[in-house]
Amino acid sequence: MNKELVIVIDFGGQYNQLVARRVRECNVYCEIYSYKTDLDKIRAMNPRGIILTGGPNSCYEENAATCPPELFSLGIPVLGLCYGAQLMSLVLGGEVRRAALKEYGKTEVHVDNTTPLFAGVTADTVCWMSHNDYIARMAPGFRVIAATANCPVAAAECPEQKLYAIQFHPEVLHTVEGSKILYNFVRGICGCCGDWSMDSFVEESIKAIRNKVGGGRVLLALSGGVDSSVAAGLLSRAIGRQLTCVFVDHGLLRKNEGDEVEAIFGEKGQFDLRFVRINAQERYYDRLAGVTEPEEKRKIIGEEFIRVFEDEARKIGAVDFLAQGTIYPDVVESGLGGESAVIKSHHNVGGLPDYVNFREIIEPLRNLFKDEVRKVGLELGIPESLVLRQPFPGPGLGVRIVGEVTAEKVKIVQEADAIYREEIAQAGLDREINQYFAALTNMRSVGVMGDERTYDYAIALRAVKTVDFMTAEAADIPFAVLQKIMSRIINEVKGVNRVFYDLTSKPPGTIEFE
Ligand code: GLN
Repeated sequence: MNKELVIVIDFGGQYNQLVARRVRECNVYCEIYSYKTDLDKIRAMNPRGIILTGGPNSCYEENAATCPPELFSLGIPVLGLCYGAQLMSLVLGGEVRRAALKEYGKTEVHVDNTTPLFAGVTADTVCWMSHNDYIARMAPGFRVIAATANCPVAAAECPEQKLYAIQFHPEVLHTVEGSKILYNFVRGICGCCGDWSMDSFVEESIKAIRNKVGGGRVLLALSGGVDSSVAAGLLSRAIGRQLTCVFVDHGLLRKNEGDEVEAIFGEKGQFDLRFVRINAQERYYDRLAGVTEPEEKRKIIGEEFIRVFEDEARKIGAVDFLAQGTIYPDVVESGLGGESAVIKSHHNVGGLPDYVNFREIIEPLRNLFKDEVRKVGLELGIPESLVLRQPFPGPGLGVRIVGEVTAEKVKIVQEADAIYREEIAQAGLDREINQYFAALTNMRSVGVMGDERTYDYAIALRAVKTVDFMTAEAADIPFAVLQKIMSRIINEVKGVNRVFYDLTSKPPGTIEFE
């Protein structure tokens, strides 16, 4: 694939993946690399543009993350963001200092919209600031193109060398016209025409998979989640029945979810592949009996998945490739891509089954962000109900049941959750609320039903609004809707006599329960 490429150089900022996503939204392919990447390697990739990200350091300090001055004289346009803007100024002979007034949050900024970077941007607009240092003196050859009340150089340019520096964060949605600014850089200044799209991705991936796999056999563990499902769809289109999918139903899926996965990928579904469903409910419930500690539950569920998968793989025998639904954020967060790195090692990247006999790994979604994976899924004709699915933890309902997991409790939470989802959709709130589910608290209390004493469980309803799932607030579901859900759950689900609505935001809470 000989595509236009823009490179994001990672200095450890928190929004770096967002930068790359925004560039791809301009239909330009983009990858993230550490600031330690060799200049020769960067040159060899032949990027159309380079973007330097924000970062936690102060660039004037000893041992701060840096870059060689030659980076700015490759003849490739460079855009520095925040730390990247400061570093560019410092390396090229300007001065960066600690600011008397820090800026944090939404800030009014005045931009010179006669310059290409801000073409079409409102002269007085709102940007997102997050910095302690500031550009006290620009490098020679630069001129100011934006300023705020407290920040004299909110942006600067040296058009002769195609160098641009922005102190604020255009990648963050709070910068109202940020996408336009990045578009101006990528499509205008770098001259990219935008050859990255999901339909061409599907076409080219199918070719690439066929080339790589040849007549070989591929094995994929299907979890029912978005990533592995889309990987299955893509592989099936490419190699049909050379692909075997093993779907492990661990008995901790939402109501009917296992059957839905089978309806799509099973022998009667729309995809051509070999499909094996393992109903491992009993095996899981046995292993989970008596276990109450959340981390231990997670560990058991994860390990058991691999064991069940291995057992099945042994029956299938040697395969040529093991396929995985690894996606780009997994790669970046595992420290294999960028610098913000080593936040967590990812199961898709790290934990391979030991006893599966394969020659090579194949990861067809490795370069895609989540929203791109969803687009590919829709492109392949996988139903929206699966592709647009809300985040669902790998350990499934196992971590939506506080305390010990039993078959009875799973049934209760499945039924309550199904009613909850039905009513939210009925009320037309399902697109508005970003994530919602029922959980089973471990609390039992006294109630009265039909004049009889009950001693049953309490269901907790969770519903949050969030943009990035890093912070979230409880959704304000109309009281009448909540009442209806409460009454249906208590009437229809045996073993429940109380319903709570969770008001906690994140932080301090989490979205999930355990
Ligand atoms: N650490 C630098 C500062 O405080 C850059 C911050 C950033 O990139 N967000 O100014």
